[in-house]
Amino acid sequence: MAEAPNKPFPTVGRGGTKKELPEHFKVYKHVWVAVEVEHGVVHPVSFELLGEGRKLADKRGVELAGVVMGGSEAAIADAIQATFEHGADVVYTVVDPVLEHYRNEPYIKALTDLVNIYQPEILLLGATNLGRDLAGSVATTLLTGLTADCTELAIDDEGSLAATRPTFGGSLLCTIFTLNFRPQMATVRPRVMSAPEIQPGRTGRIVSHPLGLSEDEVITKVLKFVADRDTDKAQLPYADIVVAGGLGLRSAENFQLVKNLAAVLGAKYGGSRPLVQKDWIPADRQIGQTGKTIRPRLYIATGISDAIQHRVGVEGSDLIIAINTDPNAPIMDFAHLAVVGDAVKLLPALTEAFRKHLSVNRMAG
Ligand SMILES: Cc1cc2nc3c(=O)[nH]c(=O)nc-3n(C[C@H](O)[C@H](O)[C@H](O)COP(=O)(O)OP(=O)(O)OC[C@H]3O[C@@H](n4cnc5c(N)ncnc54)[C@H](O)[C@@H]3O)c2cc1C
Repeated sequence: MAEAPNKPFPTVGRGGTKKELPEHFKVYKHVWVAVEVEHGVVHPVSFELLGEGRKLADKRGVELAGVVMGGSEAAIADAIQATFEHGADVVYTVVDPVLEHYRNEPYIKALTDLVNIYQPEILLLGATNLGRDLAGSVATTLLTGLTADCTELAIDDEGSLAATRPTFGGSLLCTIFTLNFRPQMATVRPRVMSAPEIQPGRTGRIVSHPLGLSEDEVITKVLKFVADRDTDKAQLPYADIVVAGGLGLRSAENFQLVKNLAAVLGAKYGGSRPLVQKDWIPADRQIGQTGKTIRPRLYIATGISDAIQHRVGVEGSDLIIAINTDPNAPIMDFAHLAVVGDAVKLLPALTEAFRKHLSVNRMAG
């Protein structure tokens, strides 16, 4: 194991000129993705990160590795295979009953031990509840830099990760470098990046490492696991069709029109932030920079002006249809199809038209 490198090094001069990276950084190689597995299921954001990690690793000419941790070999077997099939060359595993359920302390130990031994240059995690909890703790334990909620990642020839994220309430994008410390860490929210093509049957090297921690040493205990009953919650980012409403709908009662259209289309519904603030919709239905990022095949936005904080959450949608009374609203330029009209009148008409069309098609099918 090399000497801990995390002592400050002035890589940027006063004029902002980048100086050469210190020699001891050169032991840090390869791009890693911490794969999020809960109850045997990989969170799709991990695949999106493997896709992005592959691009960074190829640019750098290094390996892409996935880190898969869990309570038993059986619990993580599918996750390991899926990690290879989404582009990893190597999978680092830590398997121990203590890791059966996510808990901060043992997961920090497992990941920081791996990083200290194998020394990746870059470590990526999903900006999920679990990923955010783990990334912050791992970064502070390793005394390294972490850029949270990135929207874009790039790398230069010296291996400096350029991590771009919104700042000043989303009105600006800033690019952050971790020049003084290794590894360079970043989190990315689900659906900000697209998942790579699956390569069925692809395999690679597996490197196993012991946890070295007993249950007695972990303060947090899992007494019982209670699954979230609102299974809809997590589905908005991965929905194929999303119908959303904004302040233009004027009342919580009118928001029901959005839900009706969503129900007929088999879509998920969401809304802009002011609707959450007014209690018209729950917080987990908010779309945008401080809500969910979506990438549906079809996004229908009604009574939404398209502030930048909303736009960053929907710009990955394949087809955007906007309904707005104001032809000059920003969304009318941004949408693929802009309908000038009153959403409160158009939504019931659309719902009825789709209901008829879909039932005719179902009968014909
Ligand atoms: C730090 C920060 C984070 C934020 N994060 C988010 C976020 O994650 N998501 C988000 O959405 N916002 C976010 N916001 C808020 C954002 O800046 C906007 O205020 C918000 O998106 C505006 O919501 P809206 O489009 O529903 O309302 P408005 O901007 O008021 O737009 C209403 C639109 O409805 C149209 N309209 C009016 N009547 C009708 C009608 N009858 N039929 C059809 N159209 C009609 C109007 O022409 C207008 O374009 C954030 C703000 C800050 C400062």
